[in-house]
Amino acid sequence: MATSWTAEPERWVTIDHAALAHNVETIARWVKPAQVMAVVKADGYGHGAVEVAKTAVAAGATWIGTAHIREALELREAGITAPLLAWLHTIRTPFRAAIEHNIDIGVSGPEIEMVAEAARAADLPARIHLKIDTGLSRNGAAPEQWDELCKRASELQQTGIVRVVGVFTHFATADDPDGEAAVDEQLAAYHQAVDTARKHGLTVDVRHVANSPALLSRPDTHLDMVRAGVAIYGLSPFAERTPEDLGLRQVMSFGTTVANNKPADEGTGVSYGYAYRCQTPTRLALVPCGYADGVPRIAEGAPVWIDGNYYRVAGRIAMDQFVVDLNTDRDDELTAPVGAPVELFGPKSGLTSDAWALAAGTINYELVTRIGARVPRIHKPWI
Ligand SMILES: *Cc1c(COP(=O)(O)O)cnc(C)c1O
Repeated sequence: MATSWTAEPERWVTIDHAALAHNVETIARWVKPAQVMAVVKADGYGHGAVEVAKTAVAAGATWIGTAHIREALELREAGITAPLLAWLHTIRTPFRAAIEHNIDIGVSGPEIEMVAEAARAADLPARIHLKIDTGLSRNGAAPEQWDELCKRASELQQTGIVRVVGVFTHFATADDPDGEAAVDEQLAAYHQAVDTARKHGLTVDVRHVANSPALLSRPDTHLDMVRAGVAIYGLSPFAERTPEDLGLRQVMSFGTTVANNKPADEGTGVSYGYAYRCQTPTRLALVPCGYADGVPRIAEGAPVWIDGNYYRVAGRIAMDQFVVDLNTDRDDELTAPVGAPVELFGPKSGLTSDAWALAAGTINYELVTRIGARVPRIHKPWI
């Protein structure tokens, strides 16, 4: 039973499902007739995998993707019935549970015999998508292993153990305007790999290669389906283009309230190590979020919105809190008082997680996936 102390969160991440639906619809319209797989690995990039998957499907995604089979199983347990694909496995991956729950399995090579064995044990065919490494050098079969993998998959398909549904690959440089030639090379290698699969008698119904940067910048990569991750969350995969430029709306916002506000003298040292000192007599506001909540410790100087005004993080970010120099009169009790709304990013401030990512020397993907477990996600329903 919910108790009163859980009712009003003290810090929160808001998930705007109207924005999420808008992004999925926008992408679906764009890539049509290709289908959209909504990628919800890592708890939906920190947004909540189950909630994101439900809205994405309602808004037009026809597939859901995760990295791990365990992530896909959690979605099945939560009642998600859409086709699901998971592609990163180990010797401990529960392949049999995947087959029994109708989860498609990405196969890069080493796992094909494990998958076949699990299919025999379950007495059900495994639905697989063969993955070719066309140049990212992560998982996927190397080009010289591809013919052998197709041959083995074809044998297993003929005995009814597996059913090859698709062939896929993943790009290394689609986010980089200077990476076009490398994308061309990967795409050419991919098409060759599909030809090889077909020569082995595989039908390859679902050809899929595009991640967000590719689907946004290269229509020739849409094929039968795109795998849309960061873009459905309304984040730009490009350094030089904002979500707005792409017609997308940021889904996550991160807020809290001012926890303390007090006068400080000129020269006052702020937070551990006195990395910041007040240049004038001023007031300091305390924001009760720190690196345990996903505010990167390295992001000194990042922008913060408090009740209509913009400030910067002063000094070190600690585990639970950081300080903002309000640059105001020492006696000013009206600016950013205790309880005033704070936004690190979101629609009130217009700040994006990119600003925090930039201050932290990382990318928006990492920022949103690392929001701490003690920050509740508030889901704002769509419609
Ligand atoms: C994470 C991932 C995606 C989604 O990438 P975005 O850049 O977030 O769109 C697509 N495909 C694979 C194989 C992935 O691992």
